[in-house]
Amino acid sequence: YHAKKNKLNYQYFDTSLNEKALTSFELSNKIKEALENNEFALYYQPIYSLTENKIKSAEALLRLFSKNTSMSPDKFLPIVKDLGLINEINNWVLDNAFKQLSIWNKYKKDFSISINISFSQIYSQDFIDFTKECIKKYKINPKNIIFEITEDETLEDIDKASYILDSLKNIGIKIAIDDFGTGYSSLAYITKLPVDILKIDKSLIKDIEKEKNIEIIKAILSISKTLNFSVVAEGVETQKQLEILKNLKVEKIQGYILDPPLKAYEFETKYIKSKT
Ligand code: C2E
Ligand code: MG
Ligand code: MG
Ligand code: MG
Repeated sequence: YHAKKNKLNYQYFDTSLNEKALTSFELSNKIKEALENNEFALYYQPIYSLTENKIKSAEALLRLFSKNTSMSPDKFLPIVKDLGLINEINNWVLDNAFKQLSIWNKYKKDFSISINISFSQIYSQDFIDFTKECIKKYKINPKNIIFEITEDETLEDIDKASYILDSLKNIGIKIAIDDFGTGYSSLAYITKLPVDILKIDKSLIKDIEKEKNIEIIKAILSISKTLNFSVVAEGVETQKQLEILKNLKVEKIQGYILDPPLKAYEFETKYIKSKT
């Protein structure tokens, strides 16, 4: 147990040693409690199509609310993993997002939801089975599901990943590479994995006014055109960024300029049940 605690300390805190031990212990207790009490929620952020001038999809983003604190998934997911509870939460995300999609598809039959999936998740034994089960259970059209593959430390075997993702693609699910333009193996991913969509990382969008970034984005768009990927720019915050992206003919955008991730019912009121 000690080793585990130290690992958590090492990764998340750089204050004094005593403070560290206490805080990481509290943190993992909080997360255990949250799992028991079902204090997780999925928020939904709209993805806007500049070519069609409408919102046809949303990304599901996990939130943890525990006794007045909310925490970023980047921070709590590695802890959930260390606690050995990651499968449980991953399946919870899939089940909930699919359930939501089945409801929203009653209003908009082509609406799709993007779900974040880590490499370690796709290697887990029951991932495919569970996905198929949920599709059946909620009578989902798999064409309305996008899996956003997020890099984590476990890229065991890219050929194995490719094989698994192929089987998902065969039933109609679309595959996106998340945070494209960061990470180390992004180019290997697009040559080896069955990709449909590239999501340009927000770090490239943030400094988009720099000439270098524009050139990199142009290169991504050029590859995407040749290989027939669609492209989403993430983290679009300003009008200026939007203008540049429009001029570059980027297809879709996501970011605070539209909306932050919203509670499901807020998203529903604003984007599913509204006329637009
Ligand atoms: P991501 O998939 O790249 O998600 C985009 C992140 O950017 C989200 O952070 C979102 O809230 C944030 N964002 C959206 N628009 C803007 C903007 O205009 N400016 C800025 N600065 N940020 C923006 P969030 O929700 O904290 O999620 C962080 C990461 O955690 C996600 O990055 C994803 O990798 C992971 N994650 C979230 N939910 C899940 C999940 O259900 N399963 C897994 N495996 N990972 C998840
Ligand atoms: Mg994502
Ligand atoms: Mg990410
Ligand atoms: Mg991203």
